[in-house]
Amino acid sequence: MLKVEHITKYYGKNLAVDDLSFTVKSGEIFGLLGSNGAGKTTTFRMIMGLLDSNQGTILLDGKKIDYSVTDQIGFVTEERSLMTKMTVKEQIIYYGRLKGLTEEEIQKKLDIWLEKFKITEYKDRKIKELSKGNQQKVQFIAAVINNPKLLILDEPFTGLDPINVEQLKQAIYELQKKGCSIIFSSHQMEHIEQFCEKLLILVKGKTVLEGYLKDIKENYQKKNIKIRGDINKDEILTIPGVISINKKVDDYEVKIENSKVVEKVFQKISHHNITKFVVEEASLNEIFIAKVGESYDE
Ligand code: ATP
Repeated sequence: MLKVEHITKYYGKNLAVDDLSFTVKSGEIFGLLGSNGAGKTTTFRMIMGLLDSNQGTILLDGKKIDYSVTDQIGFVTEERSLMTKMTVKEQIIYYGRLKGLTEEEIQKKLDIWLEKFKITEYKDRKIKELSKGNQQKVQFIAAVINNPKLLILDEPFTGLDPINVEQLKQAIYELQKKGCSIIFSSHQMEHIEQFCEKLLILVKGKTVLEGYLKDIKENYQKKNIKIRGDINKDEILTIPGVISINKKVDDYEVKIENSKVVEKVFQKISHHNITKFVVEEASLNEIFIAKVGESYDE
């Protein structure tokens, strides 16, 4: 389990992370979100022991972060940190040895991962000869070769096609099942919605929203209604509590202030020819934009 308690980080006078606390249990996928410059990378660097915090503590399974613990942390980022002149095998052996594995153990695990990612044929090829997506897979293998207790994934799907995204997702779920604590960071909210039960949103180093995705969505008052049929847009816009109405492909999407407005919209259109009327919770994307926007306005 990872426990981040009241960490604060200044770069000179610039406060990059402000009294941040969160916990990621074993087998949990935790979403760490934030706008550009919010403090995510700084937080990851502190968790990995690459940067000292000014205040606060970070514990992995009860132990403060030091060299013995950082071996247990895997990190995947969109910036590739591979040595491009090495072959895939040489690269993974290099990282595996750094993490204290024997060459024999590494070779065994490497073969399993290459098979899983369907890139066995690239084992003896130089990294620079691999496509971007396959380099990303190699980076992932390097990060997880020693079954880390904590895995940090920072935009892990950048540059991957949908089939490779799916393979990587399955690999992440497997690690989750084995009890790995996972921190997932992405600007693509649909990935967060799919993966993370719990999340935290940072703005300028401060936590503006934290909790279970399910609760966050339930507590967010604004909802969307999807309507298909022959309706009068202007008529709907006159209903108090209706924020906007837009046509999206075949459906109209009506944004409303809260669930009390549903009934009023339904009454207004019930005499029209309607084939669909579905009330949905706001997407995480909408909630993120609203929360981050509010914080910038303060
Ligand atoms: P992004 O999503 O754009 O990658 P981020 O959430 O990872 O952003 P950080 O890179 O942690 O944000 O930056 C947080 C703040 O700290 C920003 O104001 C940034 O300018 C500042 N910062 C980051 N690294 C340094 C550094 N090495 N020296 C000085 N200031 C820094």
